Amino acid sequence: MTRRQKKTLIRIVAAALLTLIAALLPLEGVWKALAFAVPYLVIGWDVLWGAIRNIANGQIFDEKFLMALATLGAFAVGEYPEAAAVMLFYQIGELFQSVAVGRSRRSIAALMDIRPDMARVLRGGEEVELDPEEVAVGETLVVRPGEKIPLDGVILEGSGSVNTAALTGESLPVDVAEGDTVISGSISLTGLLKLRASGVYAESTVARILELVENSSEKKARVENFITRFARWYTPLVVVSALLLAVLPPLLGGGEWSGWIKRALIFLVVSCPCALVVSVPLSFFGGIGGASRDGILVKGANYLEMLERVDTVVFDKTGTLTQGRFAVDAIHPKTVSAEELLDIAAAAESYSSHPVAESVVLAHEGDIDRSRIGAVEELAGMGVKAVVDGRTFYVGNGRLMEHVGADWHECHLPGTVIHVAEGAAYMGHIVINDQLKPDAAAAIRRLKELGVKRTVMLTGDSEKVAAAVGKELGVDEMHAGLLPAQKVERVEALLAKGCRVAFVGDGINDAPVLSRADVGIAMGALGSDAAIESADIVLMDDKPSRLPLALRIARRTMRIVRENIAFSLAVKFGILILSALGLTNMWWAVFGDVGVLILATLNAMRCMLRVRE
Ligand code: ADP
Ligand code: MG
Repeated sequence: MTRRQKKTLIRIVAAALLTLIAALLPLEGVWKALAFAVPYLVIGWDVLWGAIRNIANGQIFDEKFLMALATLGAFAVGEYPEAAAVMLFYQIGELFQSVAVGRSRRSIAALMDIRPDMARVLRGGEEVELDPEEVAVGETLVVRPGEKIPLDGVILEGSGSVNTAALTGESLPVDVAEGDTVISGSISLTGLLKLRASGVYAESTVARILELVENSSEKKARVENFITRFARWYTPLVVVSALLLAVLPPLLGGGEWSGWIKRALIFLVVSCPCALVVSVPLSFFGGIGGASRDGILVKGANYLEMLERVDTVVFDKTGTLTQGRFAVDAIHPKTVSAEELLDIAAAAESYSSHPVAESVVLAHEGDIDRSRIGAVEELAGMGVKAVVDGRTFYVGNGRLMEHVGADWHECHLPGTVIHVAEGAAYMGHIVINDQLKPDAAAAIRRLKELGVKRTVMLTGDSEKVAAAVGKELGVDEMHAGLLPAQKVERVEALLAKGCRVAFVGDGINDAPVLSRADVGIAMGALGSDAAIESADIVLMDDKPSRLPLALRIARRTMRIVRENIAFSLAVKFGILILSALGLTNMWWAVFGDVGVLILATLNAMRCMLRVRE
């Protein structure tokens, strides 16, 4: 609790005791009014003062004004205990809400406890402790066991295991050794590591993630905007009705003034929309925060809202459903030796970050002398064009071979085939094979169970590979041989049919599709900048099974939001009607305002709980 919250709590306790005393004293008339005025002022002076200041600023219909008017009115008609109690409960509600919001905000900060405090840098042979922001690219960092890795980097010296749980929700530590890339925000568990900083702090994974989480409350869901608009007319409407209720019936000879004024005062108390205004954003906040604990980063409440309604999930293949780590199965050279073919392919691919390229480079034993490599051009969805040893090679799929007019042929072996040509002269091909991610099939099954109508796989790979993968995973539809632009067309065709489409990709060759779908979900974002930028939802690790989990979190959040809206409105309208009929008293109003606020807030906090698969 903050100091302010503690002070409020003390005032609440004091006012409650004073109210009790006032109720026990055998006083009548003015004395009774004065006795209740003491606790009323103790608990309500700041509300009264706030109301006056707001009116001076031209802002009338805020909750302070409503509370002030309602309670002063209650005093006027002789409902002294009620007046004190309304103010008391109002403050209890406010306190409760501020503790709840503070707690969820803090817990998200704790969940995302990934911000490094300092970086230990080797400068002039000595270790100096710096702010991570002061470290330049290429400097040597020293990370001791138990410390947070401050910037993204490559291990120069040392080995050990690192824990990425705060980033990915994955609790198993990862073993790392010299040459491996490590990500800022993860914790080095064992071994002293020396790293070369591969970027500045502002571009580090940790800075991007924090920025993303911090900005997520700016993108509001449609229900949130609806509630804001609703509150804007609900309050004045109820206040005007209260006025009419207080004035019209007595003027028309419908009875005593004080009876109608009492009914109107209840209207004023119930006219406060705080339960909605507080609980709806709190639910989204909780949902987004809870998801981040599982390594699911949602860039805004609107995307949770959208995800809930998705009925079509479109997947990229390589790196998304498959591991994107290919093993070389066969090398079929035509004009050169097998070693030479692999050497050329690996050299040409050495600047590409495509999984195919990385696998070829990995299969090539020994270092590649980068000085051999001249101009390199990535041809998205096809391969690369690269100058190696002064000769121009094309390395990629059949489509690329068609493109350069090489005399190529298919391979009889199953797998992804990488063809190599020098200019238009075909040199042979390399067959590589990828493996499905272990949880891919289960994830697709689970999505179906959750009611997703259609699953689609899009790939730039060959028909043969696509068919094999698609069949094994049980996707409903697949389309092969697509260029990135054609993937966009496929998604657009689905959108045109009225499908609500989520696209899941790894951010390589599919950024345009990620931004075109209703919800773009990037997977394996640890280390991939492109994915974090262009997606709406970012899955930090590369497990397809996070997807059904994200869907369930979205659904639960939306369900809780709807529960709160329905519950709050039902209670408030119910009380308004009963009050108009004169069937309630001020205690009902207290429940209609503060009771509903507290219940809705408690319900909203359920959004933060972990969803179990
Ligand atoms: P996917 O849709 O399966 O993720 P991409 O669109 O990224 O695949 O690539 C489609 C195909 O293009 C790959 O299967 C591969 O045959 C070829 N390709 C793309 N980039 C490269 C590259 N750098 N080297 C070789 N082949 C590539
Ligand atoms: Mg891909």
